[in-house]
Amino acid sequence: MIKITLPDGSVKEYAQGVTPMDVAKSISEGLARNVISASFNNETIETATPLTTNGSLILYTWNDKEGKKAFWHSTSHVMAQVLEEKYNGIKLTLGPAIDNGFYYDVDFGDTKITDADFKAIEDRVLEISKEKHEFRMRAVSKAEALDIYKGNEYKTELISNLEDGTITFCDHANFFDLCRGGHIPNTGIIKAMKIMSVAGAYWRGDEKNKQLTRVYGISFPKQKDLTEYLELLEEAKRRDHRKLGKELELFAFSTKVGQGLPLWLPKGAALRDRLEQFLKKAQKKAGYEQVVTPHIGQKELYVTSGHYEKYGADSFQPISTPAEGEEFLLKPMNCPHHCEIYNVRPWSYKDLPKRYAEFGTVYRYEQSGELHGLTRVRGFTQDDAHIFCTPEQLDEEFKKVIDLVLYVFGSLGFENFTAQISLRDQENRAKYIGSDENWEKAENAIINAAADKGLNTVIEYGEAAFYGPKLDFMVKDALGRQWQLGTIQVDYNLPERFDLTYKGSDNELHRPVMIHRAPFGSMERFIAILLEHTAGNFPLWLMPEQAIILSLSDKYENYAKKVLNLLENHEIRALIDSRNETIGKKIRDAEMQKIPFMLIVGEEEEKNGTISVRRQGQEGKGNISVTIEEFVSIVNDEINKTLKVFTV
Ligand SMILES: [Zn+2]
Ligand SMILES: [Zn+2]
Repeated sequence: MIKITLPDGSVKEYAQGVTPMDVAKSISEGLARNVISASFNNETIETATPLTTNGSLILYTWNDKEGKKAFWHSTSHVMAQVLEEKYNGIKLTLGPAIDNGFYYDVDFGDTKITDADFKAIEDRVLEISKEKHEFRMRAVSKAEALDIYKGNEYKTELISNLEDGTITFCDHANFFDLCRGGHIPNTGIIKAMKIMSVAGAYWRGDEKNKQLTRVYGISFPKQKDLTEYLELLEEAKRRDHRKLGKELELFAFSTKVGQGLPLWLPKGAALRDRLEQFLKKAQKKAGYEQVVTPHIGQKELYVTSGHYEKYGADSFQPISTPAEGEEFLLKPMNCPHHCEIYNVRPWSYKDLPKRYAEFGTVYRYEQSGELHGLTRVRGFTQDDAHIFCTPEQLDEEFKKVIDLVLYVFGSLGFENFTAQISLRDQENRAKYIGSDENWEKAENAIINAAADKGLNTVIEYGEAAFYGPKLDFMVKDALGRQWQLGTIQVDYNLPERFDLTYKGSDNELHRPVMIHRAPFGSMERFIAILLEHTAGNFPLWLMPEQAIILSLSDKYENYAKKVLNLLENHEIRALIDSRNETIGKKIRDAEMQKIPFMLIVGEEEEKNGTISVRRQGQEGKGNISVTIEEFVSIVNDEINKTLKVFTV
């Protein structure tokens, strides 16, 4: 008998040779129907793999990431089978699962595969799937494997790098492939499959190698899931921040200015400014002080901070002064500058914490192929701040930062998030700067603060920065996509490197602890994510324009101006569309601009001192007729629902 530990901690005894599927059946028939893959002692195995030792077993269904991975990877086998069937003499290479689906890299020789070929391939994949072929692993000797794949230089290269005795093939139907394992029980559960695209991909990602064709696909256990997935993709396209940014005239890029360097247009700049003011106001209450530092710093500054050693060669190279030969770097981080601000004068424990905040623009080199709208850029502004405190104050400060981050998310409509705590790699501690003792203190401070604030947390080992552990907020947007926003990092190392001190109650000098934090992350990335989350319908308090006054004809222009004036007195951001256009056209344009309220004025309204209000995106709901005062309270009520007052 062997002892199997399940994820809930329960231990059950089974006969040696029991399979994960047998275990599932022993728990319930329902579970057995849904189990599609498994892992044993943290290694991916097949659901039919006999278990021979004691260990921990996890059973996965379609709802688990691991389950999807097995599902998609298995589909890549079936697709490869179809490709071999349809295209003579092609060479298969690798076919892994990815975040959304799978791909297979194929050397098609002289054959070209296009969109027109997709349908026939998909149909054949589903035809084969219906036949419920089991996936079965088989061990193959190295010599035999090399012999089977002679003529396929890619598989030969893969096999050459494997140890004899560890090589396995996966069989299904009349098809086999070199594979480590991780498949669904049989092809029968693949009910929908689509080829998404084809693209060029170099063998092993090296441009010196031959270019292969990467065939991207995705598959699902239900046709309905595929339909929903395709709809989601369409919606994501509509919400693409690069598209919306252009339509709403928020930002632009210029090849003359340079790749990855965003230009903020007046409306975008106003939006940024409003976000900055919002955060500055809360930060002031939370005891932060604003500072300003230059865009460049001496190379020595980053040698001291350790950034140069870590990133220097892979980033922008130093700028030198012509006569003196001094070397400066574009600022990749604000922290070293803030350390030097701290060092301007001596501090006593009574003065701490010091909280220095700056909307600091930094520059980091990204390869041009990596650049993407506002989410991957070469110059961006962090809503940065550094807190210098005593070790005793660390727990408390950390909690306060969490409060601030939660306030920011709440005011911007991000309700669905988890906190990812990134700690050291437990195996390899040599790659981190700083003492073991300090790391432990910092890691505990984060874990305690997150628990105290009742955050939904996930711990990731090995994800910490080289200088300290961190807490990242992972936010789900309206389409269920996950983004990393807001980060808080504890740092015991920069205070050491910059020799930061304070005088303690014992009159001795001590090292302060440093916290780096940025609730937005960067203005660029945050606005990009906010655009995709809201589809441009920002919370009312943030909208560049909250209302637009549309007059039925130029006869009512004076009344429109009077309305504008009254709204401005109440600090409502409004404008008049005084173009000589039909009301229908004016409404359509205002809808395109996503202006929340359209205020229509004509004879009736002028006579009664009212406005006819139409809400953006609510066509067919009809307009409501209200006085200016009533409209002001509608606006303020809506703002107060999202924009709460920050209290400390
Ligand atoms: Zn496989
Ligand atoms: Zn920092």
